[in-house]
Amino acid sequence: MGYKNYPMVSRVVFGRGSFNQLGDIIQTKRLNANAPFIFLIDDVFKGNPFITTRIPLAYDDEMIFISADEEPKTSQVDELVEHIILTHNERPSGIIGIGGGTILDLAKAVSIMLTNEGEAKDYQGWDLVKSPAIYHVGIPTISGTGAEVSRTTVLTGPEKKLGINSDYTPFDQVILDPELTASVSKQQWFYTGMDCYIHCIESLNGTFLNAFSQSYGEKAFELCKEIFVHGNLSEQEAQDKLMMASWHGGMSIAYSQVGVAHAMSYGLSYLLGIKHGVGNCIVFDQLESFYPEGVRLFKEMKKRHNIQLPQAICANLDDEQFDIMIDVALGLEPLWQNALGGQWKQTITREVLRSLYQKM
Ligand code: NAD
Ligand code: ZN
Repeated sequence: MGYKNYPMVSRVVFGRGSFNQLGDIIQTKRLNANAPFIFLIDDVFKGNPFITTRIPLAYDDEMIFISADEEPKTSQVDELVEHIILTHNERPSGIIGIGGGTILDLAKAVSIMLTNEGEAKDYQGWDLVKSPAIYHVGIPTISGTGAEVSRTTVLTGPEKKLGINSDYTPFDQVILDPELTASVSKQQWFYTGMDCYIHCIESLNGTFLNAFSQSYGEKAFELCKEIFVHGNLSEQEAQDKLMMASWHGGMSIAYSQVGVAHAMSYGLSYLLGIKHGVGNCIVFDQLESFYPEGVRLFKEMKKRHNIQLPQAICANLDDEQFDIMIDVALGLEPLWQNALGGQWKQTITREVLRSLYQKM
């Protein structure tokens, strides 16, 4: 097998207030008056003039507000695509996602499914997408997931939670405006920020590590420490730096892989609907034996920011439910391989995973 030939975001703007440039940026991409831009926007911004008055609507452009309470589903992508096709005369000029990982992933998936036949679930996997997506723009409003740089869009389908990993998935344009993250609650800031921290720990301590991943991972890790440990940054500096940490963390795992926390967190998400950021934190808190130094520092950050993680979420589960989570986690072979090497099955038994889940 050769080395991965990795697509990247083609254009990126960074700067406080750069969101104002959205109109100028997309204007040149309008195909014609009947081909609208569709704005998929996190519904926390509904009625919030700071965002809505700066959406450059023209012609048949449409804003669709979407709740991020639940992570994206393949059926939700299909419904959005159907709505767009039925309400507009022509294929859109572009899709613009404004929100966190949930909305960014929806924007990527919708842009792919507008040019590819069938249902979103048919494309969960690696390199199944045949036609290029339509022009798509990502504008993160919370930092940490790396969804703004990644080559995947994570979707829960009828059978599995798995990304559409393809060369057509990455955004054509990203606008990084740290001001947009100012309204994030402290708890959510911590959870999604820790997603980035955990990406660094899993990448830097993985067997897949290489100089490419390491260079991005070390930078992101350094930034996370400045933000979450040292605590002598201004609020604005912290917003700017977390946005760049997210970017670098995403680049780091692009050329390696995540590890134990993500594998187990997918189990929690699949069975209990626990969201990615908080789920990773709940799992990572119990992983001293895998990532001793990373978990020690995590606990320190948790204490410093006075974060209480949900407790005993697995307390009332039965055997069958534990089995479902264990199956999901064990199914993510590349993650275990990265974390522990080719012989991972010798140490990772169902009993080991069950006893870890029981502590959560
Ligand atoms: P999110 O998008 O789920 O949002 C979390 C919460 O923060 C929501 O309640 C949302 O409304 C709120 N929020 C967002 N921006 C806000 C703002 N500026 N002010 C106030 N509230 C705001 O959170 P997330 O952690 O960014 O994303 C998680 C999702 O990302 C999961 O679905 C996960 O699967 C996905 N993910 C994708 C990738 C990828 O590479 N594609 C990587 C990691 C995670
Ligand atoms: Zn993650």
